[in-house]
Amino acid sequence: MHIRHLIDGHLVDSADGQIFDDVTPIDNTVVATVALGGAGEVDQAVGAARRAFGSWSRTPVQQRRFMLDRIADAIDARADELAELDTRDMGAPISDTAAITVPKSAEVMRFFGAWAENVSDEAYHRPELGVLSYTAREPLGVVAAIAPWNQPLLAMAWKLAPALAFGCTVVMKPAEQSPVTATVLAEICRDAGVPDGVVNVVHGFGPGSVGEALVRHPDVDGVAFTGASATGKALMAAGSSTLKRLSLELGGKSANIVCADADLDQAVPGSALAAFNNAGQICVAGSRALVHRSIYDEYLERLLAEARSWAPGDPLDPKTRLGPLVSTEQYERVVGYIDIARQEGATVLLGGGRPSAPELDAGNYVEPTVLADVDNSMRCVREEIFGPVLAVMPFDDLDEAIRIANDTPYGLAGMLWTQSLETAQRTAREVRAGNFWVNTFAVRDRRAPFGGFKESGIGREGGDHSREFYTEPKAVYLKT
Ligand code: NAD
Repeated sequence: MHIRHLIDGHLVDSADGQIFDDVTPIDNTVVATVALGGAGEVDQAVGAARRAFGSWSRTPVQQRRFMLDRIADAIDARADELAELDTRDMGAPISDTAAITVPKSAEVMRFFGAWAENVSDEAYHRPELGVLSYTAREPLGVVAAIAPWNQPLLAMAWKLAPALAFGCTVVMKPAEQSPVTATVLAEICRDAGVPDGVVNVVHGFGPGSVGEALVRHPDVDGVAFTGASATGKALMAAGSSTLKRLSLELGGKSANIVCADADLDQAVPGSALAAFNNAGQICVAGSRALVHRSIYDEYLERLLAEARSWAPGDPLDPKTRLGPLVSTEQYERVVGYIDIARQEGATVLLGGGRPSAPELDAGNYVEPTVLADVDNSMRCVREEIFGPVLAVMPFDDLDEAIRIANDTPYGLAGMLWTQSLETAQRTAREVRAGNFWVNTFAVRDRRAPFGGFKESGIGREGGDHSREFYTEPKAVYLKT
């Protein structure tokens, strides 16, 4: 397979003919060659998006919604293909891509089309002053959508859908590890009738490559970014010379608090899901379990049994829940963190490395790993590992649990398992994180704000929160 850029409606290679390899984490073989873009391709794509912006921004919202519905229908029609492409590209189990991330990508398209059409506008009437004011929401302009590899299609859909719905044009830059489905998505948009130049995709890397060129480009009005916190900081610096509007969805190290009154029949599988889903490569992963001391032993015993059921396997097998890590670099990083944990004095209760299954030897598989005898000062507990590694710590009272939960530079998410409404309300209020789940995990309402406190990001995605980013509000005053 060979993957090209899509610029102004045309699939093109880079002018200098450069390419890079796209490798599957299943066995580290090359599945595609990919055009490697540079400043020239970015300039062409941004130019096309700028030219297309005028008429797309004036296209009636009903028509933009119609296009988004057609894009959603095409995603549904090609769901099996898209699920397999994401699974091969980055290793997420087909059970997740086919049942969750691909269907949700279609739903996000439909949601934002409908939201943009139906959302209310502000108006203020001051009869005593003889003035009516209203807020016009003008499309922001050309938006760069820079995505990570952990949910390639869905992360891009969360940027593309609101951008199109609110009248922006887009240059997508998928992660270099998982470039395939963004290209298919751009083709789907073109085939659905979205005019040339409205949706473009340019492939390449981050620093010194396509990502940085987009962030520095003077004709890009906003950058919608999801990725690591360190990258978010680099984006802020690079975008400062043009005062670029940035939406930053960044990393996390979320606490999963299990109280003495928790229903362990829910809390244990919920904790395992929070830690091992997508091999721990999700930003809201509950990678620190804080467990009340009175139930610590029972919780651990049940958690270890549950974790053993997350056996690594071929992600293309529908029964597999734990696939490989996205790349050999990510594998080395995760195994490196487990070594650091050992050096720091942690006990590895389960897992700790590559599974002993010869058929998986060529891939980047790591066993579900549970660490105990840790405290919140250790690197394995403070830093985002982004692998199937769960650190478990006891606590004595809720004050202590909340203090540990907040003792992190991140603030993306938190989870709590309790039967007490009072505990739920207090903890939800006091944990400094943008998303908080009580007796459940990772449920998301597309109208609700999704994003992080502290170093987990700036801005929010979802409903009106996305409208905030993809539009410029303008106050208009009419004499009545
Ligand atoms: P990353 O920051 O390395 O890369 C993300 C994207 O940014 C890629 O497309 C990459 O090419 C590009 N990029 C890298 N450096 C850049 C630069 N200097 N300028 C412009 N673009 C640049 O992240 P990753 O390793 O792909 O993804 C994992 C990270 O993403 C984790 O930290 C995870 O928590 C985070 N994440 C956050 C959310 C969220 O919604 N908050 C969701 C998923 C993942």
